[in-house]
Amino acid sequence: MKSIERKVRATIAKYNMLKFDDRLAVAVSGGKDSVSLLHVMCKMEKDYPKASLVAVSVDEGIAGYRDEALKIAAENCKKLGVEHHIISFKQLYGFTLDEVVARVKMAGEKELTACAYCGVLRRKALNIIARNVEADKLATAHTLDDEVQTVLLNMLHGDVTRMLREKPVTDEVHPKLVPRIKPFCEIPERETALFAYVRKISFQSIICPYASEALRNEIRVFLNRMEEKHAGIKFTLFNSAQKIRPIVNYPQLKESLMDCSICGEPTTQKVCKACEFLQKLEKG
Ligand code: SF4
Ligand code: ZN
Repeated sequence: MKSIERKVRATIAKYNMLKFDDRLAVAVSGGKDSVSLLHVMCKMEKDYPKASLVAVSVDEGIAGYRDEALKIAAENCKKLGVEHHIISFKQLYGFTLDEVVARVKMAGEKELTACAYCGVLRRKALNIIARNVEADKLATAHTLDDEVQTVLLNMLHGDVTRMLREKPVTDEVHPKLVPRIKPFCEIPERETALFAYVRKISFQSIICPYASEALRNEIRVFLNRMEEKHAGIKFTLFNSAQKIRPIVNYPQLKESLMDCSICGEPTTQKVCKACEFLQKLEKG
């Protein structure tokens, strides 16, 4: 079996993810995938004297969960000698995720899960912190498993455009949007776990208290069952999505982007999704 480092190098080259002098921000949550990615990218960065690397984390404000994860992320950064920056929902939006969930429950909202709010708010937070540290690219630790779950999830939500846009490297569509790369997109999750265990890398092993709400979990279980019966099916699904993207003439995101009338961040609507959520929360 090729080492993860060699596979990641091959993935980076295949999708042309990095330039020799890029300043890379690695999104580190403290979980096994993100700390493994940090270790791999740190090693790779040493081969490129003109490149630089920084770790960024988002504190969503999930009591008893994210605080421990951030401690582990910080320990890994210290060990590797990597600069670490944290941005929190509280400082950015005025609410922790726990407070968002409590308000949503009080309002009797049943349509959206904690993960739906968290995903939108975290995406924006990560872009802001990557921009603040002047990163050219933002690397996230999405594995092959995450990628194929997302393909199915978007299909089940009827969001085909989003499925087409979720690529291993996002397009450079707006100066305020830091392009994202996914160096683990062809690495199965079990290999990142093995890497972390073998290298004795510390990571958070408890799962988020809101995770059980996600439809993603059901898809994960389904795909794992399918993979057990039909080895290689996750790769097949991943490759199918790669083949569909270039042949579908989907509307270019670039053309539809504008500045949010509230926060000024790039969005496809007049008001970005994060501001829309926050307005709803403030109104109660
Ligand atoms: Fe956020 Fe959901 Fe992930 Fe928890 S499981 S960190 S709520 S997206
Ligand atoms: Zn906004």
